[in-house]
Amino acid sequence: MELKKQSALENIDACKELLESMSDALWDHPETGYHEHFAARLYCRMLEKLGFQVEQGLAGIETAFSGTYGSGKPVIGFLGEFDALPGLSQQANVTRMCPVTEGGPGHGCGHNLLGVGALAAALGVKKYLEDNKLPGTVKFFGCPAEEGGSGKGFMARDGVFDGVDAAFCWHPGEVNSVATESTMANYQICYHFHGVASHAAMTPELGRSALDALELMNTGVQYLREHVPTDTRIHYAITNSGGNAPGTVQAYAEGLYLLRARQLPQVKELYRRVNNIAQGAALMTETTVDIEFIKACSNSIINTELNHVMQRNLEQIPPQAFDDADLEQARQFRATLTKTSTYFDALAAEATDPEDQKRFQADMDSLIHAVPLPLARERQGFVSSDVGDVSWNCPVAQINAATMPAGVAMHSWQMVAVGKSSMAKKGMLYAAKVMAGSAIDVLENQDILRRAQEELYRRTGGRKYDSPIPDDVKPHIS
Ligand SMILES: [Zn+2]
Ligand SMILES: [Zn+2]
Repeated sequence: MELKKQSALENIDACKELLESMSDALWDHPETGYHEHFAARLYCRMLEKLGFQVEQGLAGIETAFSGTYGSGKPVIGFLGEFDALPGLSQQANVTRMCPVTEGGPGHGCGHNLLGVGALAAALGVKKYLEDNKLPGTVKFFGCPAEEGGSGKGFMARDGVFDGVDAAFCWHPGEVNSVATESTMANYQICYHFHGVASHAAMTPELGRSALDALELMNTGVQYLREHVPTDTRIHYAITNSGGNAPGTVQAYAEGLYLLRARQLPQVKELYRRVNNIAQGAALMTETTVDIEFIKACSNSIINTELNHVMQRNLEQIPPQAFDDADLEQARQFRATLTKTSTYFDALAAEATDPEDQKRFQADMDSLIHAVPLPLARERQGFVSSDVGDVSWNCPVAQINAATMPAGVAMHSWQMVAVGKSSMAKKGMLYAAKVMAGSAIDVLENQDILRRAQEELYRRTGGRKYDSPIPDDVKPHIS
């Protein structure tokens, strides 16, 4: 590896203790979307201390911020997340389900690691720019509410990512790989039904049930499922059933819908049809419905050019060296799994090249998957992410890094429990180096950037980013 890059990556190791303690502090203070005040304060303080210029309150969101170092082009962004998940409180390093706070939040998606890994990468690139006295800007974006809040979507709508030339990110997980799955577009909508309360036995004719309306809506949507494109996803939750008194006609009920499809126009069409069903249910029950648009995500645009850069770095930079203690801990956590994630197997099944198959074979029975996997073919995933909105603004690439035992599922108590472990931190620092190394390659060779931007233009057909979130919709702070 080049000396210049080496010294930037060594700077990440030099800050290891600081970074690890930051990740632990975030794990200790899990905050759900748009409530990340502890995290935002910690990051802003740290960014300032490390020599970044901090901007807070981006897009009018209290917990959205950025840290900038350097000047001029190109502008390289790193995307940091830090929100936790409700209800996933879990003690660290304990091999049974055991909350710290009953019903409290927990870092079930590893975002305590995710944000700090991205900050570490920014730190590496800052060192590179400093040492080599080069023009260029590195920006760390503090992006709130990834889980269900589309923080980056609101930031993108407000132009926060304008002028960024390329962005990198990562996600904690069970393998070391470049992410080649594109994510789906989605809309989240709340349907509020209003009826009339009445004694259900004495004067039922005076009551109009909002709960009936919601149930009819849900039933109508079940029939719709047969007549939508196969890869459409429609999820719902009854978020208010109108109370627990069957003797009173329910005057209010609400349901939360999450609609997904490959592209935004398909989600928009689905939205129109689901709205019609809601109106139909209101008509049948003589209730009314208010339709509240909560948030949306754009589908992601894969960038093969940057994916290749990340793949090279994934293979060049020495991966996590898991020691016996890490492996023993992984063994203990694997013993708690009744079902194991099939993510690795699914990737292995797709490998056709004999060399690639060998690489999968070598890692098949590992307690932690630490082998950098070959670059998988591009494919459609079924989840959504607000990184999608950034990817319409500039070329974006991301990796997964192994931070947990093989077979552990995302959003599980086991993932929370290992979030402060040595294996998790090794994964975080590896991801940081791969991201920083990739960004340095882009800074070194601006042909890469040009090709990546041409690819984005080609894939979007030259269409400019158009936020799927209507102008009057504000972030939903629950
Ligand atoms: Zn998640
Ligand atoms: Zn996540």
